[in-house]
Amino acid sequence: MKEKIKALAAAYATDFVANRRHLHSHPELSFQEYETQKFVAAQLQSLGVQATPLANTGLVAVIEGKNPGKKVVGLRADMDALPILEANDVVYKSQNPGVMHACGHDVHTASLLGVARILTELRDEFEGTVKLVFQPGEEKAPGGASMMIREGVLQNPAPAGMIGQHVAPQIPVGKIGFREGMYMASTDEIYLTVKGKGGHGAAPDSLIDPVLIASHLIVALQQVISRNRPPKSPSVLSFGRVIADGATNVIPNEVHIDGTFRCMDEVWREEGLRRIQKLAEGLAESMGATCVVDIVRGYPYLENHPELTRRLRAEAGAYVGEENIIDLDIWMAGEDFAFYSQVVDSCFYRLGTRNEDRGIISGVHTPTFDIDEKALEIGAGLMSWLAIQELEN
Ligand SMILES: [Zn+2]
Ligand SMILES: [Zn+2]
Repeated sequence: MKEKIKALAAAYATDFVANRRHLHSHPELSFQEYETQKFVAAQLQSLGVQATPLANTGLVAVIEGKNPGKKVVGLRADMDALPILEANDVVYKSQNPGVMHACGHDVHTASLLGVARILTELRDEFEGTVKLVFQPGEEKAPGGASMMIREGVLQNPAPAGMIGQHVAPQIPVGKIGFREGMYMASTDEIYLTVKGKGGHGAAPDSLIDPVLIASHLIVALQQVISRNRPPKSPSVLSFGRVIADGATNVIPNEVHIDGTFRCMDEVWREEGLRRIQKLAEGLAESMGATCVVDIVRGYPYLENHPELTRRLRAEAGAYVGEENIIDLDIWMAGEDFAFYSQVVDSCFYRLGTRNEDRGIISGVHTPTFDIDEKALEIGAGLMSWLAIQELEN
């Protein structure tokens, strides 16, 4: 089976590249993936696979092998692009100025279309059902994954596991990265408004200085992380925007502090947010001011199911060679695949796309991000192989 998949992936590799280039040159922002949705649906249609729209601009489809009720495995690709002006001078450059596939979601979508192509040819040779999930809006709250789940993507039929792959410009093409357990962080946004009483900087005794209170708050809130966080649980609280718009001799009425709270434990996440709110309100009050705390919830933390991840890691080693499997570190960024991981056994792994010799080294979310397109043949073939192996497990 492995050799058959490799042969099919090699035979269709130029089509995978063509699909990726089409998607790359026609990027669409989160939740506006209308043309992408049409393109994916048409490609699936040409393979005889009927896709159903979900979450407005998403799609779901199934490929049934023999005995389709035996087991279901879900494969996920995200389809949205970013508000970035592409700086690459390539034939497949974005034709939508200011919008760019700078996070590789064109690669994920093209790879999953490649999986569809491979698995439709093999449908008499495996048992069970593969569910293809093409989701919108990974880059933007509330996350397309949460909408797909709410609209039933994990039911009828219900996948026993979800598998997602993501490009990795720090990993050489040909290599694949895995990590069991905690992998990516929950992401919540914190907006604090300290309200005092402004006035002349020469008369602080007649004012309630929100600048001083905000300074205390920034320091004190770090103690929620250092004193209340479970020591084994990674956690970050960062404030990147502080606005006290007075002058050398003008104390403003209020100060804004914006930041992000990230962690890898849903229980601690709730507790941390509660403590941040309580401390901010209480400290401001003790100094005669008030603090309005606005928390905007982002994605949950991404847990790679240990047993599923161990199996996939071993199967990936069989496909690309054990020497090409690498261990990933914890990464405090967010990813909406985490929503699936909170509901069903899930594994999110990394597909190497770097090629230093060809200068393909730019990080995701930069105007010069690109990939070594050899990754498409590997990505489509590997995902097909993992799905079939998991159906047999
Ligand atoms: Zn991204
Ligand atoms: Zn991404």
